[in-house]
Amino acid sequence: MEKSKIANLPTKFGNFKIQSFKENDKEHLVIFTENLPEIPIVRIHSECLTGDALGSLKCDCGEQLQKAMEIINENGGMIIYLRQEGRGIGLFNKVNAYALQDKGFDTVEANHQLGFEADLRDFSIVEEILKEFNIKKIKLLTNNPKKEFSLKNIEVVKRIPIKPTPNPYNEKYLKTKKEKLGHKL
Ligand SMILES: [Zn+2]
Repeated sequence: MEKSKIANLPTKFGNFKIQSFKENDKEHLVIFTENLPEIPIVRIHSECLTGDALGSLKCDCGEQLQKAMEIINENGGMIIYLRQEGRGIGLFNKVNAYALQDKGFDTVEANHQLGFEADLRDFSIVEEILKEFNIKKIKLLTNNPKKEFSLKNIEVVKRIPIKPTPNPYNEKYLKTKKEKLGHKL
């Protein structure tokens, strides 16, 4: 794993520090507050270009990211931003999955139709990154229990949920997350 220098990142949510970690051609990001508490709040966020940057209402990624930045700015902590678009299937395949969803398939069925598992994301790099920051205990900001279990050498002292705002476009997406992927919503 290669790491970049640390730079300032002023945002509309507050002033953060930013650092990039590179592994196997994947360039991940860590966005963190200047003062990290002993047990920081950590959000492990998987890239979602359509939700994070384009304001898509098909998923709750953009909203979760923004809420996480607000909460972390206030309480101290970090966002580990993983470049694994579309639950790991990539942007191209995600758009094809969206086309299937337009025909009525849910997110899990659409991925299966395209020959992918429901969720191909890999969270192993997270522990390496936390180790770099000498963090052993965290408060995890997530609705996804799988992220909690994926951390073996890090103690999750608390799971803090982020409540998504339902809209007519993400209703089915949120329902699938809850019923098929075990999210606590
Ligand atoms: Zn998304």
